[in-house]
Amino acid sequence: MNTSLFTFDLIAKDGQARAGVFNTPHGDLLTPVFAPVGTQATVKAVTPAQLEELGATLILANTYHLYLRPGADVIAELGGLHHFMQWQHPILTDSGGFQVFSLEQMRKIDEDGVTFKSHIDGSIHRFTPEKSIEVQQNLGADIIMAFDECAPPYDRAYSERAMQRTHQWAERCLRAKTRRDQALFGIVQGGVFPDLRQQSADYLTSLDLPGYAIGGLSVGETKVEMHAMLEIVHGILPEDKPRYLMGVGTPEDLINGIRRGVDIFDCVLPTRLARHSAAMTFSGRLNLLNAAYARDAQPIDQNCQCYTCRHFSRAYLRHLIVAKEMLAATLISIHNIFTLQELVRQARRAILEQRFAAFASDFLQQYQQNKTTTSSLTERKP
Ligand SMILES: [Zn+2]
Repeated sequence: MNTSLFTFDLIAKDGQARAGVFNTPHGDLLTPVFAPVGTQATVKAVTPAQLEELGATLILANTYHLYLRPGADVIAELGGLHHFMQWQHPILTDSGGFQVFSLEQMRKIDEDGVTFKSHIDGSIHRFTPEKSIEVQQNLGADIIMAFDECAPPYDRAYSERAMQRTHQWAERCLRAKTRRDQALFGIVQGGVFPDLRQQSADYLTSLDLPGYAIGGLSVGETKVEMHAMLEIVHGILPEDKPRYLMGVGTPEDLINGIRRGVDIFDCVLPTRLARHSAAMTFSGRLNLLNAAYARDAQPIDQNCQCYTCRHFSRAYLRHLIVAKEMLAATLISIHNIFTLQELVRQARRAILEQRFAAFASDFLQQYQQNKTTTSSLTERKP
């Protein structure tokens, strides 16, 4: 496979933390990078122009959702995902696996693939590794994912079966892939079991893929277990390929992931929290619906340089929420996404300047300290 369109340059290392540049056909990603999620080919409540202004460089779109609606063939016909949603920077699509396997009552797995019922109209569909690649090739993202099975983290027998299936499926995805302008990432599975994680990282490394994702984490295991799995995988995956921790996006998880060698993250958290009136800051969360903010002239965060914080008060945001105005979701999403972009930018700078350990411990200390006070504040009803 020719991967020359997708080189990864490791610029600096500080402990296990890494700063790099991942070249893609739609531009360079400076890593560590955080990708906001655009499930339905839109990052909810935010325009592509606003995302650019926030400094977002990579976004994620969901294969399962776009396959069902409007259909990957429709998107291909209309020029592919970049043109369809007017985002000219890198895009990543997942394989559809995670959503399909989350359908619980609506799916049937065999060695060849998964049959499932659409959550929209109950119609029957089937994903195989080949089908997932066909759909992702129609969507046309820069980074695409191998079809994998994410098992419940504590079931060893299931984790082992799912891991083996994931390996066979990764090979089938590799054979099915024809587009040169897409990088196929393999996904390390293995639940919370060190030997399975090791086996999975070894096996996928042998496939010489342009990047690797770490899947099946942030699905109910403890933080200690998540960190232990990251450390195992870190020691095995090739240094000159990017590592992507799927579905992780609280500020502390980003810092703890970067500390353990992760380069790419994605999460729905900043936009989902925004739609539930919650603002993310470096010192914890604020529930802007709280009555305490009714006459509060301060911005969400005094130190934040985002559009929302430069212009609007907590009182105004609270008013928009109470009045059920759409702008509330937009303004809080802008702030939340900016906060995570700023966090990874600062982390990258700290790595380049060889002071990441101090940066991380200062950040986590401040975050934990304030979390207690802000969470007790957010629990108070308006
Ligand atoms: Zn802000």
